[in-house]
Amino acid sequence: MNIQLNDNSLLKNQAYIDGHWVDGDSGSTFEVLNPATGEVLANVSSVGVTETKRAITAAQVAMESWKALDAKARSQVLEQWHQLILDNQEDLAILMTAEQGKPLAESRGEVLYGASFLKWFAEEGKRVYGDVLPSSNDRRSIVIKQPVGVVGAITPWNFPNAMITRKAGPALAVGCAIVLKPAAETPLSALALADLAERAGVPAGLFSVLPSRSAAEVGGEMTSNPTVKKVTFTGSTAVGKLLMKQCADTVKRTSMELGGNAPVIIFDDADLDKAVAGALASKYRNAGQTCICANRLLVQEGIYDAFVEKFSAAVQQFHMGNGLENGVNLGPIITEKAVADIHQKVEAAIEDGATVVTGGKVSELGPHFYEPTVITNATPDMRLFKEEIFGPVAPVFKFSTEQEAISLANNTEFGLASYIYTQDIGRIWRVSEGVDYGMVGVNETAISSEIIPFGGVKESGQGREGSKYGLDDYLETKYICMGGI
Ligand code: ADP
Repeated sequence: MNIQLNDNSLLKNQAYIDGHWVDGDSGSTFEVLNPATGEVLANVSSVGVTETKRAITAAQVAMESWKALDAKARSQVLEQWHQLILDNQEDLAILMTAEQGKPLAESRGEVLYGASFLKWFAEEGKRVYGDVLPSSNDRRSIVIKQPVGVVGAITPWNFPNAMITRKAGPALAVGCAIVLKPAAETPLSALALADLAERAGVPAGLFSVLPSRSAAEVGGEMTSNPTVKKVTFTGSTAVGKLLMKQCADTVKRTSMELGGNAPVIIFDDADLDKAVAGALASKYRNAGQTCICANRLLVQEGIYDAFVEKFSAAVQQFHMGNGLENGVNLGPIITEKAVADIHQKVEAAIEDGATVVTGGKVSELGPHFYEPTVITNATPDMRLFKEEIFGPVAPVFKFSTEQEAISLANNTEFGLASYIYTQDIGRIWRVSEGVDYGMVGVNETAISSEIIPFGGVKESGQGREGSKYGLDDYLETKYICMGGI
């Protein structure tokens, strides 16, 4: 492999099934590329249906003794896994930047963020309470919570570490086993996590990792196998809908964290500097490739020109390049196809009358780099308004009234994150309650952490990850009636 770590044993190129590092049955592999340089980082084993079946069977067996342990004993294993991730933060960050592209500082941050879910759920898992219901003459009724069963998880490439721990943490904490298919673009971070899980004492079979070039095969087995009781997915809305349909045949529970189309609503009375800083951080984090990235900047007419001027000046200060190099704070786009898609949206907007203030083209740095872009005269009929851009392109739309801002914000099938900038307390409440989103950042765009319920409404998904609510997705509610009393 073409990466040097302090601990090279974290570099794995095989699947991890039932506690063993194995090649796929067919012997086939796929390439993992560094998006900044195009170099091949590794050839990773590709698994299919039969290996997925094996992992699911092993998960069921492993779960039997895992769920019978005291919550405290499970918690101690998760605490250990958390600590090992912290101990290996730099290696995990280097690996992540190499395969995903985000600047090293962002990768370091994601590793801490990812680890925080294990710590949080190690603690929360000890507090799964039931209920005693009001009693009647001849009976007593109680409610207990039990692990939902074997979990199938499918995760994306934009957060190669945290999207895994956010699912594995609560699943393992309450006594489930989890079978994971990471994105084919970023399997190395997932496999390194599996290595650390093994070192932490996570028993064989409880956490298997299935890298694959054929997502549909692995996903098909996960969603149809009757042993799997729940499927949790983070990714595109199109694939999420497909998985939900596939899960219907065996009536599996699902958690879906899908696409977004986040508005940042900036009112005339906003603190301009804070609004610029917040929009900038939200839009360009991970080069615009997160589902809660600002997708539409909605700016009130009185502050529009001043905002565009300050925002564009700040955008021109980005230092784009290979995320492993010092000083780089904007990385590459994951694939050339994604770059082409971003550029098509920009070109379509220009055809429809938008103005490019800065950027607007593929960078001279190479085919994976897109210049940080600001677009004005953007209107709601443009693709940039309707679709998730997933790149470093900020279209700025103008509005006049509060009601118009709420309508524009809600004029989308998505409903994940939204942000508002205003100093008016009444407006904060009206707009927060008026927008159809799972999350609202008020004068703040850095809204994610392990303690908050992350998730969306409408076609952005269902279920919540993180926080005390994040356990519910991995628990069943059982009612027990004790009669004849
Ligand atoms: P993105 O556009 O961010 O790559 P995807 O939804 O395509 O989003 O990918 C998210 C995850 O879903 C990845 O792990 C990918 O391999 C997986 N995936 C894509 N297509 C399917 C499918 N048909 N069945 C199961 N998983 C899939």
